[in-house]
Amino acid sequence: MRAADLEAGSLQASVLTLRNWLAAATALLDNVGVRDARIAAEWLAMAALGMDRAGLYARLGETLSVEAAARLSVWLDRCRAREPVAYIVGEREFWSRAFTITPAVLVPRPETEHVVEAAVDCFPEGRTGEAVRVCDVGTGSGCIAVSLACEWPRAFVLATDVSLPALRVARRNAQRHGVVDRMYFVCSHALDGLSPASLDLVVANPPYLTTEEWNRAEPELRWEPRLALDGGADGLDVVRAIVEGARRALRPGGWLILEVGATQAQRVEALLREAGMERGFVRHDLAGWPRVIAARN
Ligand code: GLN
Repeated sequence: MRAADLEAGSLQASVLTLRNWLAAATALLDNVGVRDARIAAEWLAMAALGMDRAGLYARLGETLSVEAAARLSVWLDRCRAREPVAYIVGEREFWSRAFTITPAVLVPRPETEHVVEAAVDCFPEGRTGEAVRVCDVGTGSGCIAVSLACEWPRAFVLATDVSLPALRVARRNAQRHGVVDRMYFVCSHALDGLSPASLDLVVANPPYLTTEEWNRAEPELRWEPRLALDGGADGLDVVRAIVEGARRALRPGGWLILEVGATQAQRVEALLREAGMERGFVRHDLAGWPRVIAARN
């Protein structure tokens, strides 16, 4: 089936198999410049049909129901207008759990999973029931904070954000994964108002694009909250505030784990050094960028 057929609705529903729809949708998305068009099309289909990727591939030859085809056609139009798939379907998977996503929050990215991974490695005692005290600054959807609360059965997890609508989404995700009783949600900037030396760990995926980069960003990014992405002239405004706050709020020996921009690692390490923190380690993402930086107070 050609993309033009799907567009013109000229094919009968009886030949609209999942395989055909995926091929045509991929071509249409590709044409308007959507990156990883095939994956976007698969995500739409998985959500519309309520199945995972394995399920999808097992049923490629099946004909779409009229309802599924109608829903997919609306979703495909939104995706072609460059709305992020996670907002269209209302969900994104992170650290093997499904998170509710609305335009009030940043769409969780795979590279952010390295923040969770680094935290889990720094505190093996968290899994055996130690009460790790952690703050996720700029929690957004709550993906980092909720994942850590799920990993560590007795952790004290504080999730902060400057956006109240974002905190509501984070709370919903904590409820969804059964950890809301062990989490606290606070509307604040960086680590304002926390008692000195009261935390073992600070984690954050701060806004780290420069305003210039944000201005030039691809269309999908414009749907996401600017507050979650734009880190000011050099991209490091919020990073600086977090480092300063973490120095105060962390106990001696406590860890700060930060996601940084692809080319920012050296500058952030210098910033941490100047602030008097001890060098920890750097984790690279799957594309090879130094993406997560860990330092000790
Ligand atoms: N902590 C959330 C995430 O990692 C939101 C981060 C942000 O808004 N900058 O997806």
